[in-house]
This record gives sequence, structure tokens and C-alpha cells, in this order.
Amino acid sequence: MTAMSAMTRDDGDLLMFRSLHLQARSAYTDSKQLPVGVQRRAVFSSGHLSRAQKTLQSAAESLFSVLFPSGCRICQSPLTTISNLPVCIPCRERMIPLQGNLCAACGEKMVGGRFEIEASPLCAICRRALPYFNQAAAYGAYDGALRDLIHLFKYQRVLSAATVLGGMLGHAFAKLGIVGPLLMVPVPLWPGKRRARGFNQAEDIARSFLRAYAGSGIQLCTGLLIRTRETVSQTGLTRHQRRANLKGAFSTTRPEALHGQTVVLVDDVMTTGATAGECARVLLRAGAKQIFVATVARATREAESVTLGTPLASAAATVS
Ligand SMILES: [Zn+2]
Ligand SMILES: [Zn+2]
Repeated sequence: MTAMSAMTRDDGDLLMFRSLHLQARSAYTDSKQLPVGVQRRAVFSSGHLSRAQKTLQSAAESLFSVLFPSGCRICQSPLTTISNLPVCIPCRERMIPLQGNLCAACGEKMVGGRFEIEASPLCAICRRALPYFNQAAAYGAYDGALRDLIHLFKYQRVLSAATVLGGMLGHAFAKLGIVGPLLMVPVPLWPGKRRARGFNQAEDIARSFLRAYAGSGIQLCTGLLIRTRETVSQTGLTRHQRRANLKGAFSTTRPEALHGQTVVLVDDVMTTGATAGECARVLLRAGAKQIFVATVARATREAESVTLGTPLASAAATVS
């Protein structure tokens, strides 16, 4: 575990770091007026400070250099404010919610004017066959800075990203327009994969989201849905092949706990919806009343066409 991720698990330390930073910065004029390259130096320059302020400045500066030795973990530009997440403000501002016409069932982005006049438009795939879940909603498109943030979390163990990703999951959940009581079920990982990664990203994002929704009637259920066999990577498979690959990959442990329940499946990314669809089928068969899906990101066809063939696209081989 990196020093960064260890630190972010300790809210008390975080508050101290922020406090030190704010006190050190308060002695200066607004550093936002300065070019990016000199902001970091301005925050910690040493002119006109009392002895106590210099002590604080020194402590904040050394902490800053320990915590953020290489700047923003997405664009590498210098970080000018202390945060528990080593990602700069401009990168965070690029993580925008999905916009435009979205399929009322699977959440896929749709192009073409004729959808604008429909109250509940469906994409071509959902028109042919509706998914097993009622509706899927995502915060943003799985590309650019948002995809990089998810990769930082999953593959580089920047665990502090869970808070931001949990907030985005909350945004997606709100789009579903449902209220408790309901069960929140993270898409499970194959045990070997979970051991190798050290955590299930879907579960950690759900926990982060639920910290802000305490008492809302949403119950996190981590053992109800399990993987019963390992599946090969979904990357490069057709929609039909993905469904075949997932057949029999999931099972439920306590069907009685699901009977008549509304379930929200949670994952970091939804690609084609094949995984969510298979999970929903298994949950419904076990007795659940209805299934919704909330994810941080959605691989839209538009995003795929932009990113296909880039190094990050191959790294995006996300099979949950
Ligand atoms: Zn950045
Ligand atoms: Zn659809």
C-alpha cells in the first residue's frame, strides 16, 4: 500500500493536512491568479511570515512533497492544493456527467433526432430485447479523465478515489428515481481476482456511497450474489459471446433474502451490459422483484469510437 493510500484511510490526519495547508496559504494573496507553474512555489514561499507560520509552512511543504511527489496522477501537472486525492482540479472538472439522449433501459447514449420526441426512448438493442434489469444509469462516459480515475483506483490502488467515485455513484443512483427500502448488491469478483486486487472496487464504491446515505433504507449485501466460476476477459468478444461467457458464472446464496426485493446492482463500469444483465437474470430467478443498475461510468459507443486503439483502451479490459 502506498503512503498516499494509507494516509487517505485516516480522516483525522487528513483534516490536519488540510488545516496546515490552509493556514500556510492564508498568509498569501490568491495564488489562483498566478500561472500554474508558480502556484506551488507561491503557496510555500517564505517571506513575511511569523515564526509559528513558518513552522506550519515547513510542515505543510514537507508533507506535500511526501504525499504528492509526482503531481497529478492523471496529467502530471503540479498539484497546487492539498487534497486526499492526487488529481488536479482541471482533471476533476473534465469528469462530467453523461449528457444527451440516453436509452431509458440500458443507459446507452443515442444519436439521432427522432429520440428527442420520445418520453422513454430505447436504443436499437433494447428495442429488439429488453434487458433483465428495469433501468441502468451511470454518472459519466467511460473515457478520458474519468476512465483514468477508475484505473487509478482499480489498478494502482489509489484508494482515496473511492470517495469521489462513491459520489458519482450517488449521482447515478439519483437518476434511477427509486427510494428505499432496497438491497444494494455489488457485482462480485471471482475470489482469485479479488485476492490479487486486494478489494472489490464495486463494493468499495458502494460503501463510500452509502456513508452519505446512512438511514436511507438501502442495505448493502455483499454475499448474496457470488461468482461460481472464473470467466475469460470480455474484451474483444461480441455481445453474443459475452453472454455465453457469463452463462452460469453467477449464483445467489440466500434466495429467501431476495424474495420480493428491489435490488440495485452496483459496479464501476458498465460496458455492454452483459454482466449486469446476467446478474439481473440470476437475481430475478432467485425471487427478486425488480433490478436496477447504477455504475460510475458507461462505455458509450461514442466514447469507444474515440478511444479505440489507444494504449488506454487496451488497459480498459475491465471484466468485473
Ligand atoms: Zn491533472
Ligand atoms: Zn438500451
